[in-house]
Amino acid sequence: MNRIERIKGGLLGGAVGDALGAPVEFLEWSAIRATFGARGIADFAPAYGRIGAITDDTQMMLFTAEGLLRAYVRGSSRGICHVPSVIHHALLRWLMTQDYSPATSVTLNGWLVQERDLWSRRAPGHTCVNALKASSRFGFLSENNSKGCGAIMRVAPCAFFGNAFDNAAESGRLTHGHPTGYMAAGLFADILQRIADRQDSLEHAITESLVEHGHKPGMEETRALVERVLFFFYEGYRPTPERIDEVGGGWIAEEALAIGIWCALTATSFEDGVINAVNHSGDSDSTGLIAGHLLGIQYGVEAIPDRWLERLELRGVIEAVAEDIERVPRDYSGYGGEFDAEIEVRYPGD
Ligand SMILES: [Mg+2]
Repeated sequence: MNRIERIKGGLLGGAVGDALGAPVEFLEWSAIRATFGARGIADFAPAYGRIGAITDDTQMMLFTAEGLLRAYVRGSSRGICHVPSVIHHALLRWLMTQDYSPATSVTLNGWLVQERDLWSRRAPGHTCVNALKASSRFGFLSENNSKGCGAIMRVAPCAFFGNAFDNAAESGRLTHGHPTGYMAAGLFADILQRIADRQDSLEHAITESLVEHGHKPGMEETRALVERVLFFFYEGYRPTPERIDEVGGGWIAEEALAIGIWCALTATSFEDGVINAVNHSGDSDSTGLIAGHLLGIQYGVEAIPDRWLERLELRGVIEAVAEDIERVPRDYSGYGGEFDAEIEVRYPGD
């Protein structure tokens, strides 16, 4: 499979999982079952006034991608760039789409923020909103102690650029001050990067990522829960709504990652994995997005059912971002390199 199929599969897969979970994000499993039947929700249902609606998770994921692309342009043209600060500026553009005013002045250029369909509130997480509102400068680190899943849910695009772990963890740290909140984000991006770069199996990517990063300070909770679901996988123990509820609700980072990983590891198909990932009492859109990223990057866009792609909100925007990511070198050196005028117009490096 070529790189563009993995990038598209990864980004669209996450968005599809987010959209599948959106209608049930705030429903207990008993209520999901009462509404959708014993299998739970297995197809797009209305949320935010439409079918296939994405949520804040996908919105912030797209702005993280924008930040990474702008960092490429900035680094190439100026020779210096602090990637997390450029991602921060992009996340502040997202904050403005939510009708909040940042404390820092924000430039509303580039094409992404002009997409009017992004200017819509989709139950944005309070932690992200409050941390971004309080940022007094680019690169300002959050002063909260949150380990909510609002960092991990947005960092998947880091997988397609160098230093995935550091860029994901450091950009996660902008909104989430608890180590588990941002270290889980780093681990997730590193797992995705191993699959994208080396065609590793998911299981191999997870174990290798734990070898490299699992013993870093702040990784204890995430490592413990990821190892627990790896054990479930080795034992042939499959996720059910009740079993997922025992692992956790996914509102916090290590639970969201573990649930997404468990559902992706045991999936018989893309569809099977994301359906399992959204049917539980917890944060269904975020766990659906995490499983969708993991499965989409492994199996490519071909593995995602057409009936979902056809009705996915912002499909064209997501595909355009994926194509732009594919155009830039994975390991840009920070200066020089091939000048790409079109990318510079779409992602101004100022
Ligand atoms: Mg959401």
